[in-house]
Amino acid sequence: LASKEVRKEPSVVRISDEVSIGGDRLIIMAGPCSVESEQQIMESALAVKKAGAHILRGGAFKPRTSPYSFQGLEEDGLKLLAKARDLTGLPVVTEVINPETADLVAEYADILQIGARNSQNFALLKKVGQLKRPVLLKRGMSMTIQEFLMSAEYIMSEGNQSVILCERGIRTFETATRNTLDLSAIPVLKEKTHLPVVIDPSHGTGNHHYVAPMCFAAAAAGADGLIVEVHPDPEHASSDGPQSLKPAKFDRMMEKLKLFAEAAGKTL
Ligand code: PEP
Ligand code: MN
Repeated sequence: LASKEVRKEPSVVRISDEVSIGGDRLIIMAGPCSVESEQQIMESALAVKKAGAHILRGGAFKPRTSPYSFQGLEEDGLKLLAKARDLTGLPVVTEVINPETADLVAEYADILQIGARNSQNFALLKKVGQLKRPVLLKRGMSMTIQEFLMSAEYIMSEGNQSVILCERGIRTFETATRNTLDLSAIPVLKEKTHLPVVIDPSHGTGNHHYVAPMCFAAAAAGADGLIVEVHPDPEHASSDGPQSLKPAKFDRMMEKLKLFAEAAGKTL
């Protein structure tokens, strides 16, 4: 179902009246890794909206590597995201970590994110395949492109065709960056599938210094969207502070991004 052989034209995934992913606009999703407090998510939402982002990101259920790390505000976090959407008009993308809480997340979210760690959780993929919400499917950290497409297939074969693929870096021998962002996934996926492709340079690099250049490169290579971590106070973030942009830096990145989007025939 995901294959170019089945459908030649690019799929456009509708998110809201104003926002679709896969068309001639480069769609920017931005916000903190985790929702931490009302003040933090409102401040983030207003800042990314002002800079020109189209969608607000923020995790309420966090799939942390350590069980002792912050696990998210859960339903309270979802409520805060909905409040931030009311304030700004931005649709929200947030992660769903298990089938049991998927209906709850779908009540609040405009896009359901499947994280890298759950990208081959087939029970979860089938569950979101039965829901009527677009899905942002992240590539697993040791997944081949073929396996990635098979995970998309799990969602689509349950009836949900609104799948957006997200490259977020894969694990290699390199330790200078958190992951190795595979930008070649953009042309490779564009050749194999009609589904939209989004790049996550925040998890892809793990370092806020490297985020803007990877945003520019992804835009120039024809990505349909970017998902970027932005935090008003990264030094005190509950998760992923080192890779989060401060609002002012995100704003400067967005200004420059226009040129690269245009080079690939897209507008911001
Ligand atoms: C996230 O988006 O905060 C996240 C946990 O991403 P990933 O699943 O790519 O690690
Ligand atoms: Mn994160």
